Amino acid sequence: MAYNITLLPGDGIGPEVTGAMRKCVDALGLDIKWDVQEVGEYAIKKYGTPMPDHVFESIKKNKVAIKGPIVTPIGTGFRSVNVLLRQELDLFACIRPSKCYAGTKCKADNVDIVLFRENTEDLYAGIEFEKQSRECLKLLELLNELQPKKISKDSGISIKPISVKGTKRIVRAACEYAIKNNREKVTIVHKANIMKYTDGLFLNEGLEVAKEYEDKLIVRDVIVDNLCMQLVQRPEHFDVLVCPNLYGDIVSDLCAGLVGGLGIAPGANIGNEIALFEPVHGSAPKYAGQDKCNPTATLLSAVLMLRHLGEPKQADRLENAIAEVLKEGKRVTYDLMPDRDDPNAATTTEMAEAICQKLK
Ligand code: NAD
Repeated sequence: MAYNITLLPGDGIGPEVTGAMRKCVDALGLDIKWDVQEVGEYAIKKYGTPMPDHVFESIKKNKVAIKGPIVTPIGTGFRSVNVLLRQELDLFACIRPSKCYAGTKCKADNVDIVLFRENTEDLYAGIEFEKQSRECLKLLELLNELQPKKISKDSGISIKPISVKGTKRIVRAACEYAIKNNREKVTIVHKANIMKYTDGLFLNEGLEVAKEYEDKLIVRDVIVDNLCMQLVQRPEHFDVLVCPNLYGDIVSDLCAGLVGGLGIAPGANIGNEIALFEPVHGSAPKYAGQDKCNPTATLLSAVLMLRHLGEPKQADRLENAIAEVLKEGKRVTYDLMPDRDDPNAATTTEMAEAICQKLK
């Protein structure tokens, strides 16, 4: 089968890690047409915006995209391209697997967690009121009128919306993924004991959705602080986690830390029609152009993409080749070496070549 895939190299180290990814995916021999689109700093120079309209059109047409990281410029007036993409394309599920590969700086064996983070709501919805602004003072007045606790007038306010629709679709996506990928347990993460009308809703609606799956899955719930402790003490106990946006953001970094850090953490943003794959890490500008950074997170994002495309055998081939190179630990980038200053560390390109040679 032929595939059209939008490739956004991004900026900073993005072009290097996506270049490595493309080399390895092309070596699988699939019929892929890459629709390469400039975004971020390169697009600002050429089109005056980090995210031109024709890039959205390409993603909407191809339905599948993979991207490198993109700098979020501070104080330029441009919105984060990453947030824009998630909102504009309604990519409501952020999926972040954390798995231990031999040869990496894994803190515990047998970690194999897939975290689903709701991507559109919660304190991340971007509904904020600056302290002392006209809108904030008006809202404070209303809030002080509506409920007994008096909020200090010098407060800023962030709003935490969590909806039935948003909850049901993320919990359903997590359960469907669990079944499709032969996983047994889904854990709903919340703080419903304190935030009854938001996290409480997330828990109750989540459990309601879970009833549809009770003959196929074990669905549990856990309070987020308790989860953090248990993840450190016995991470192998967890399988699929499903979280509201903010807890998902924090807990996924904890999980990435458990399995060896950002260099090997892949991700996917999925909506009903469109899927966008990307490493969790940023554009590491200080390393840009040095052919030095670890391509594994982007390569593992491509593994997720291949599974999404219905190419499980090719996904396994690529994942096994990555795992072998990591296990041998010889032709890997500086961050995977016991001594980060080891002059024998591989470049990004050399690590990609080593992975291509391991493809069976
Ligand atoms: P970062 O992830 O870019 O880098 C932090 C540090 O992590 C680096 O200095 C490096 O030591 C290490 N690192 C990251 N990726 C690595 C890799 N592949 N191999 C080896 N080491 C790696 O985070 P930051 O410095 O906070 O952000 C830099 C820029 O990236 C910011 O503009 C930020 O907004 C943006 N960002 C983009 C995305 C995205 O596009 N999805 C995600 C996060 C941050």
